[in-house]
Amino acid sequence: MHKKTVSDIDVNGKKVLVRVDFNVPLDEHQNITNNTRINAALPTINYLLEHNAAVILMSHLGRPKGEVKPSLSLKPVAKLLEKITGKKVYFVHDCIGDDVKQAAKNLKPGEILLLENTRFHPEEKKNDPKFAKELASLADVFVNEAFGTAHRAHASNVGVAEYLPSTVGFLIEKEIEYLNKALLNPEKPYTAILGGVKVSDKIDLIQKLLEKADSILIGGAMMFTFLKALGFSVGKSLVEEDKIPAALEIMEQAKERCVNLYLPEDTVVAKEMEEDTEFHSVPVDAIPDDMIGLDIGILTVRKYTEIIKPSKTVIWNGPMGMFEISSFSHGTKGIARAVAACSGITIIGGGDSAAAIEKFGFADKVSHISTGGGASLEYLSGKELPGIAVIPDK
Ligand code: ADP
Ligand code: MG
Repeated sequence: MHKKTVSDIDVNGKKVLVRVDFNVPLDEHQNITNNTRINAALPTINYLLEHNAAVILMSHLGRPKGEVKPSLSLKPVAKLLEKITGKKVYFVHDCIGDDVKQAAKNLKPGEILLLENTRFHPEEKKNDPKFAKELASLADVFVNEAFGTAHRAHASNVGVAEYLPSTVGFLIEKEIEYLNKALLNPEKPYTAILGGVKVSDKIDLIQKLLEKADSILIGGAMMFTFLKALGFSVGKSLVEEDKIPAALEIMEQAKERCVNLYLPEDTVVAKEMEEDTEFHSVPVDAIPDDMIGLDIGILTVRKYTEIIKPSKTVIWNGPMGMFEISSFSHGTKGIARAVAACSGITIIGGGDSAAAIEKFGFADKVSHISTGGGASLEYLSGKELPGIAVIPDK
């Protein structure tokens, strides 16, 4: 990677402000239900501690809309981080102000301080320079390690870099290294698997993939917009009517560029999007008018598996069906199994796709699971990420 990383600078005895992505999922009792994002930041945190830095961590959590919302406090994260690292984690109830300055000042090399949710201040999302300067005043060095927020230009990941010597951390470095394997010179055959709810979310990505991929496999609800564009009747399945022209255009371009764009042969249909409802598989040209397509069928799984297995590069974004409901999870599970069995580079981008691969137990069988849904989507679409662009080159 051409950006400065944390090992390119001297951190000995310095206060290092690290923007992490501790935007973890919480249940109704503020219990953290998944540690992935905390664990992903550990290599950088441990490196800094081992190199005698005082580590000040900051993050957002959820969408408090610029107000203090106790249910979105990072305090539970401080507790969990303490357990994971086996070190005391100091916590302060704000991210700017005199108390925070004092806590940062008192922090010694080898110690960790976690600041409160940066989005409790409306200035965070506005990338307010005064607020950014306040954050920067806490430290000598800034490290951006929040890949999940890298597609946003906020004060704590972009603004603050104006005022301090800045680098990316090991997680961002790793994310970019893997995503570049798909984006720049993918080893061929290169297969992209696309699903999820909306075509509209993923048009830019598909455009980019048309330049590089050998095969594009479509599943998820977005398949029905493509099928409808081809004149199939899709019953009550989700369709984005206004994206039908875009779907046609994509299929046309795929033909011109000799990219194999595959649509499912069969789909699992039901009358309701619910557990315990009756369901069965039908060919895509026989979807009943009163039914919703909620998964890809077994024939499609077999066909896609044949294409995925010999691929040298695979990128997967978006589940194949409504995998949260077990009746409609088999397509996604089958594709997860195929991706796990592929010996090439396999990359999972997208929050729900990452959740799916973990749920089905294949997380350790893929090359890389991105910690940033939106950020990986934008990066793979060829866009510059402001949180990375702001860091100087080596
Ligand atoms: P990612 O977060 O991996 O980018 P998306 O957010 O685009 O994925 O889509 C994930 C959601 O798509 C899941 O919640 C899943 O239930 C839903 N989904 C997939 N297929 C269908 C379908 N056929 N009908 C309705 N919802 C679907
Ligand atoms: Mg999602």
